[in-house]
Amino acid sequence: MAIALALLTGCGQTAKKDKDTKPTVTVTILPQKYFVEQIAGDFCKVNVMMPPGAGEHEYEPTPKQVKELAKSDIYFFVGHLGFEKSWMNKMAQSAPHLNFVSCSKRIDLLNAACEIDHHHEEGDKEQDGTDPHIWTSPENVKTISKTICEELSAKYPEMKPTFEANLAKFVDQLNKLDNYIREELNDSIGHSFMIYHPALAYFARDYHLEQYSIEFEGKTPSTGHMKRMIDLAKKENISAIFLQAQFEMAKAEVIAKELNAEVIVIDPLAENWMDEMYSLAQKMKVALSPKTVASVE
Ligand SMILES: [Zn+2]
Repeated sequence: MAIALALLTGCGQTAKKDKDTKPTVTVTILPQKYFVEQIAGDFCKVNVMMPPGAGEHEYEPTPKQVKELAKSDIYFFVGHLGFEKSWMNKMAQSAPHLNFVSCSKRIDLLNAACEIDHHHEEGDKEQDGTDPHIWTSPENVKTISKTICEELSAKYPEMKPTFEANLAKFVDQLNKLDNYIREELNDSIGHSFMIYHPALAYFARDYHLEQYSIEFEGKTPSTGHMKRMIDLAKKENISAIFLQAQFEMAKAEVIAKELNAEVIVIDPLAENWMDEMYSLAQKMKVALSPKTVASVE
């Protein structure tokens, strides 16, 4: 019994030690974990700041998470998400050796949309005016992955050939995805879609679509804004409202009901980013196809 226990404990310790000796890098959101793993394989442990189910704009790290940043070598942050900016000083103080790398580096950034209504409300804007949802575009993800590859190679030079080979494979997959989306949406160029929270601006830009946001400047829409959106949706013949899984259904459903439209749930924060993008392309294709008009024979 004692021997068995000792063996068990021994095994446990070996496994734990092995895990602990792996270098750690931190990312903000789950899709970035996916990107790092495409490049690094299982060479490093990826620490994700935002837990599943959290909204990317409301999230605040816990003191424990900030403290644990000290274990990481690199922090690949998204670049323009609220807490990343407001917590940067605290995080840097807690982990002075940590290399902070913005995944927005070298990306052609968009301004945060303020659809139709161009009156700016008084008060604070969570973001700095830059649309932070860079990861919803395969083209952007190519740039993000190159940044990740460069930084990892600089930190762990012995792994550079492996990282670069993995990057090449991933870029191939991204090109395939991009071609697939282009083919799927080929008949939808210039069409518009409506979404509760405007997470798809980069996707819309890449595939020549127009994104209309129900949420207004990151805030719950007013009755007036809701009414304008309903009128617009009628004018544009919009038959589906996209809703991000982390957001509440109620407001999107009000508009959907008014328009007799369908609510389509997407999850841009899903860990399996590639699957989510293929699924998004299919959902978008269905949403943008001309409405089937019930005809009486
Ligand atoms: Zn967002």
